Amino acid sequence: MKVDAKKIALERMSVLMRQAVLNARKNPALAQRQAGLAKRISTKYRVKMPYEIKMNFCKKCKMFIVPGMTSRIRLGRSTLKSIRITCSYCNHTYRKVIPARSSKAHSDKVPL
Ligand SMILES: [Zn+2]
Repeated sequence: MKVDAKKIALERMSVLMRQAVLNARKNPALAQRQAGLAKRISTKYRVKMPYEIKMNFCKKCKMFIVPGMTSRIRLGRSTLKSIRITCSYCNHTYRKVIPARSSKAHSDKVPL
Protein backbone atom coordinates (compact mmCIF):
# COMPACT_ATOMS: atom_id res chain seq x y z
CA MET A 1 0.00 0.00 0.00
CA LYS A 2 2.65 2.45 1.08
CA VAL A 3 4.87 1.56 -1.82
CA ASP A 4 2.02 2.29 -4.21
CA ALA A 5 1.49 5.76 -2.78
CA LYS A 6 5.14 6.55 -3.27
CA LYS A 7 5.06 5.25 -6.79
CA ILE A 8 2.07 7.47 -7.60
CA ALA A 9 3.76 10.44 -5.93
CA LEU A 10 6.83 9.95 -8.05
CA GLU A 11 4.71 9.70 -11.16
CA ARG A 12 2.81 12.88 -10.31
CA MET A 13 6.07 14.66 -9.68
CA SER A 14 7.50 13.77 -13.06
CA VAL A 15 4.29 14.75 -14.83
CA LEU A 16 4.24 18.11 -13.05
CA MET A 17 7.87 18.77 -13.85
CA ARG A 18 7.38 17.89 -17.50
CA GLN A 19 4.47 20.30 -17.64
CA ALA A 20 6.46 22.96 -15.80
CA VAL A 21 9.28 22.78 -18.32
CA LEU A 22 6.77 23.00 -21.18
CA ASN A 23 5.04 26.00 -19.61
CA ALA A 24 8.20 27.79 -18.57
CA ARG A 25 8.34 29.94 -21.69
CA LYS A 26 4.72 30.95 -22.19
CA ASN A 27 3.53 30.85 -18.61
CA PRO A 28 6.38 31.17 -16.10
CA ALA A 29 4.03 31.73 -13.17
CA LEU A 30 2.21 28.48 -13.83
CA ALA A 31 5.50 26.66 -14.30
CA GLN A 32 6.72 27.94 -10.96
CA ARG A 33 3.52 26.74 -9.32
CA GLN A 34 3.72 23.29 -10.88
CA ALA A 35 7.34 22.92 -9.85
CA GLY A 36 6.49 24.01 -6.33
CA LEU A 37 3.72 21.44 -6.24
CA ALA A 38 6.10 18.71 -7.34
CA LYS A 39 8.40 19.70 -4.53
CA ARG A 40 5.58 19.60 -2.00
CA ILE A 41 4.65 16.12 -3.14
CA SER A 42 8.21 14.95 -2.53
CA THR A 43 8.19 16.24 1.05
CA LYS A 44 4.68 15.07 1.79
CA TYR A 45 5.22 11.50 0.61
CA ARG A 46 8.89 11.51 1.58
CA VAL A 47 10.00 10.46 -1.85
CA LYS A 48 13.42 11.56 -2.94
CA MET A 49 13.39 13.84 -5.91
CA PRO A 50 14.99 12.17 -8.90
CA TYR A 51 18.25 13.73 -9.98
CA GLU A 52 16.77 15.11 -13.20
CA ILE A 53 14.12 16.95 -11.22
CA LYS A 54 16.45 18.21 -8.53
CA MET A 55 18.63 19.76 -11.19
CA ASN A 56 15.77 22.08 -12.08
CA PHE A 57 15.83 23.82 -8.72
CA CYS A 58 18.30 26.47 -7.66
CA LYS A 59 20.41 25.34 -4.73
CA LYS A 60 20.18 28.72 -3.06
CA CYS A 61 16.80 30.34 -3.65
CA LYS A 62 15.02 27.03 -4.43
CA MET A 63 13.35 28.54 -7.46
CA PHE A 64 12.43 26.42 -10.42
CA ILE A 65 14.99 27.07 -13.11
CA VAL A 66 14.97 25.93 -16.70
CA PRO A 67 18.26 25.49 -18.53
CA GLY A 68 18.54 28.03 -21.32
CA MET A 69 15.70 30.13 -19.95
CA THR A 70 16.08 30.96 -16.31
CA SER A 71 19.51 29.48 -15.80
CA ARG A 72 22.79 29.56 -17.63
CA ILE A 73 24.82 26.44 -18.03
CA ARG A 74 28.50 26.57 -18.77
CA LEU A 75 31.06 23.87 -19.07
CA GLY A 76 33.91 23.80 -16.61
CA ARG A 77 37.41 23.93 -18.00
CA SER A 78 39.22 21.78 -15.52
CA THR A 79 40.14 18.13 -16.07
CA LEU A 80 37.28 17.23 -13.78
CA LYS A 81 34.27 17.29 -16.05
CA SER A 82 31.70 19.63 -14.59
CA ILE A 83 29.00 22.10 -15.51
CA ARG A 84 28.31 25.41 -13.88
CA ILE A 85 24.71 26.37 -13.42
CA THR A 86 23.89 30.01 -12.82
CA CYS A 87 20.44 30.86 -11.52
CA SER A 88 19.04 33.98 -13.13
CA TYR A 89 16.87 34.79 -10.11
CA CYS A 90 19.56 35.09 -7.45
CA ASN A 91 22.68 34.84 -9.63
CA HIS A 92 23.97 32.01 -7.56
CA THR A 93 26.37 29.71 -9.38
CA TYR A 94 26.88 26.13 -8.44
CA ARG A 95 28.86 23.33 -9.91
CA LYS A 96 27.78 19.89 -10.91
CA VAL A 97 30.41 17.30 -11.52
CA ILE A 98 29.67 14.95 -14.35
CA PRO A 99 30.71 11.42 -13.45
CA ALA A 100 33.01 9.97 -16.09
CA ARG A 101 30.69 7.10 -16.83
CA SER A 102 31.43 6.49 -20.49
CA SER A 103 35.18 6.15 -20.01
CA LYS A 104 34.65 3.72 -17.15
CA ALA A 105 32.46 1.55 -19.35
CA HIS A 106 35.33 1.26 -21.76
CA SER A 107 37.84 0.26 -19.11
CA ASP A 108 35.46 -2.38 -17.88
CA LYS A 109 36.02 -4.27 -21.10
CA VAL A 110 38.69 -6.81 -20.49
CA PRO A 111 41.15 -7.03 -23.38
CA LEU A 112 41.92 -10.52 -24.55
ZN1 LIG B 1 18.64 31.00 -7.30
